[in-house]
Amino acid sequence: MACAPALIDRHGRTISYLRISVTDRCDLRCRYCMAEQMTFLPRTALLSLDEIAVIAERFIARGITRIRLTGGEPLVRRDVGDLVRRLGYHVGAGLDELTMTTNGNRLADHAGDLIEAGIRRINVSLDSRDPETFRYITRHGDVERVIGGIFAARDAGLSVKINMVALRGLNDTEVAPMLDWCVEHGFDLSLIETMPLGAIDEDRADRFVPLTRIFDDLSGCFPLVSDTHRSGGPARYWRVGGTERRLGLISPLTANFCDTCNRVRLTTEGILYTCLGHDDRVDLKRALREGGLAGLDAALDRAMATKPARHDFDIAAATPAVSRHMSVTGG
Ligand code: SAM
Ligand code: SF4
Repeated sequence: MACAPALIDRHGRTISYLRISVTDRCDLRCRYCMAEQMTFLPRTALLSLDEIAVIAERFIARGITRIRLTGGEPLVRRDVGDLVRRLGYHVGAGLDELTMTTNGNRLADHAGDLIEAGIRRINVSLDSRDPETFRYITRHGDVERVIGGIFAARDAGLSVKINMVALRGLNDTEVAPMLDWCVEHGFDLSLIETMPLGAIDEDRADRFVPLTRIFDDLSGCFPLVSDTHRSGGPARYWRVGGTERRLGLISPLTANFCDTCNRVRLTTEGILYTCLGHDDRVDLKRALREGGLAGLDAALDRAMATKPARHDFDIAAATPAVSRHMSVTGG
């Protein structure tokens, strides 16, 4: 198809990055992410794999150059391998990069397939290396299994970034040892502030740690050199001096990143959210089913006309900024 118009929002930001939540289901129940008794979407409400691929391909035609598959836990969706292979064909031909964020629980079984399909980098969540703390945070996770998955991914040739949500009184004293471990084994590390998304069983404010405080502590132990790398999201980066390793701080609560936001998120139900912290949405499933590719294009244009200027997160607010969980929107 001849050059489709790029996706530029009403604030003049070019949208080049799409996150796709391929399922809202998960085999863990991290306390900051989900309630223990979560109600998941009925399978009939989900986009088919073919619909996800068609929508993603339309985004690529409209100038999206990076796609991240996430969830929920992407590796619990049985047919996810087919999607990865289909989107993998576009890497180097429209798409610069296809990536995935996973909890690592099933990574050992999938690492080889992911790299074969064209994925080169993955993010793996690892909030603690201590078996008890990890089990507590995830409610039933086995840290050895996840670490096994991380090494399997590295050995298969994937470059791995560890995601760690900083949680006061749970893992905030483990951050420096985690960075040491990452440097030793060749992983980058991104630290994340807990965000007020969806109801959980506890008050997130009790566990919130500003990353500015963590960064001050780390600066005393590591030679951190500011890095100009930007992803268009809330992350700011540093190099660990004398190494190739990068430290990222994802601090939507304490840093403003919205001016350079380049991303949108597709849920497993086919809803496009143009901001993690707002309810502005466009129903792409309906647009595709009722209007085909032309309907989809019109819906994408509508989305660009409504993307908010910035999020309004407030960790101290009595109710979360938005009622949907990160696992629905795609973290
Ligand atoms: N299940 C996969 C995983 O855990 O990596 C992918 C989905 S998960 C929603 C993506 C990322 O979002 C993870 O790094 C997780 O720690 C983070 N996350 C989930 N809920 C969050 C919240 N309320 N605030 C900040 N980060 C959150
Ligand atoms: Fe599952 Fe990831 Fe949420 Fe943890 S953070 S419950 S692994 S979706």
